[in-house]
Amino acid sequence: MRNGNPQSRAAAETISRGGFRMTKQRQEVYDALLRKRDHPTAMEVFLRVKDRLPAISLATVYNCLETLTRCGLVRQVSLDRAAVRYCPNLHRHGHFFCDSCGTVIDVEEPAGEEGTAHYRLPERCVVTQHEFTLRGLCPRCSGGAARSRVSASASRAFST
Ligand SMILES: [Zn+2]
Ligand SMILES: [Zn+2]
Repeated sequence: MRNGNPQSRAAAETISRGGFRMTKQRQEVYDALLRKRDHPTAMEVFLRVKDRLPAISLATVYNCLETLTRCGLVRQVSLDRAAVRYCPNLHRHGHFFCDSCGTVIDVEEPAGEEGTAHYRLPERCVVTQHEFTLRGLCPRCSGGAARSRVSASASRAFST
């Protein structure tokens, strides 16, 4: 089943172009990122992969993530002071961080406004990398904030 998966095949080709082999461990780490796209930290990936490969170590997971990142299969997402997270979405996008619960959500750029065309760049500045981060409250937390203004105990009853 794994070999028949076109995404896995493409990933194996990408990684070999980068000069690496798609090992069982790298595959499991990559699969874990694809399975649940919630931008996990290395530790979270480790805990998910450990179910399938009980012998794998955290250091190996770090190495796998680094290789996948180096080959361009995975993107690192970092926010000040927080652990680096990993994202397998290679389409151009930014990230919305929830300040309350830490959820990270992919945010698409509006069509026609890709890149940095809509920024007023100082003269002779050349952009080599473009990342954007939005912060605030995710749908779950913003709902909770609105309700807490009404009644703290009611909001507790409403939340899951
Ligand atoms: Zn939240
Ligand atoms: Zn992402």
